[in-house]
Amino acid sequence: MTQSGKIKELKDRFGRVHNYLRISLIEKCNLRCSYCMPAEGIALSPKASIMNAEEVLEFARIFVGLGVTKIRLTGGEPLLRKDIGIILEGLAKLPVEISITTNGLLVDRHVDALQTLGIKKINFSLDTLKEARFQELTRRPGFQKTLDNFRLLHDRGFDMKINSVLIRGINDDELVDLVELTKDFRVSVRFIEFMPFDGNRWDKSKMVSEKEILDQLGGHYGTAQLASLPDEDNFTARKFKIAGYTGEFGIISSVTNPFCGTCNRIRLTANGKIKNCLFSNHETDLLGAMRAGEDVERLILESILNKKAVRAGMDSMEKLSDPALHSDNRSMIAIGG
Ligand code: SAM
Ligand code: SF4
Repeated sequence: MTQSGKIKELKDRFGRVHNYLRISLIEKCNLRCSYCMPAEGIALSPKASIMNAEEVLEFARIFVGLGVTKIRLTGGEPLLRKDIGIILEGLAKLPVEISITTNGLLVDRHVDALQTLGIKKINFSLDTLKEARFQELTRRPGFQKTLDNFRLLHDRGFDMKINSVLIRGINDDELVDLVELTKDFRVSVRFIEFMPFDGNRWDKSKMVSEKEILDQLGGHYGTAQLASLPDEDNFTARKFKIAGYTGEFGIISSVTNPFCGTCNRIRLTANGKIKNCLFSNHETDLLGAMRAGEDVERLILESILNKKAVRAGMDSMEKLSDPALHSDNRSMIAIGG
């Protein structure tokens, strides 16, 4: 509450209220997905400049005080953090909904704790149902473990979303197979358009667009079988369902049809920088400010007020396709998806 009794909120110049925080806990990962990070890996921040568990929890408390109601933990691979248990326990005490985005490889070690703490929402990344391709795409083994852990979470009743990035010539032939997961599994499969970040060799021709996905699925299932579902508030995915199927699927078209108008998301990187947009090159060092005893709330409010209307100012496909405009942005692994 402010002194006037009004509940604080993070409203930008376009009236968008930011109540959803994504915290990246780590820059490291046990996979090396080609669309996310360069083959040679990324230069990691020094360990001392990564938020410790207490700092993560302190930031969470500050953001919740500013009206944040949802926190998603991401990375890198968040479950690689040795102190993930302490972080989850601390967050579970706050009046906020917690969710996690994971590649699933370490889920079996943490599933009991997640359930005990009441964390129900898991975004699970899975781009292929073929073992050899998994190894090619992620540059690591682990396909069977990933599938087993998907099954484990599903059977334990978690509310699961599958994140898939389709890349032309690599895994776009699995579109229907991935949608078929929704036939019997109670999941939402979301296709994320391949986005440009530093070092991921993005080019527009490799991206499979929302329109193409819908055209292909319409051709396969027949358009009458493809039901469009209502948009949620602050939606990021347009949702659909195949008639008679248990689950649903969605498309996150951040490139061809962005959701900026209803954006409520803020990001905090593992080294404590706030990013007001996934596509922004600009960051504000909150961790440095917190360690120096400075006014972190003021910096957060300023960052939100500087947020641009659309994709950090890249308001056309031409601008987004210009490497000069996005190559200063971190790779996705260092932002936190
Ligand atoms: N390691 C965890 C995982 O893979 O779920 C969490 C971090 S990962 C950066 C979060 C999400 O970002 C994943 O679902 C991944 O597919 C997505 N992602 C990474 N790079 C991307 C890109 N260039 N375009 C679209 N989505 C991307
Ligand atoms: Fe790791 Fe996730 Fe990036 Fe793949 S998408 S390299 S699993 S952080």
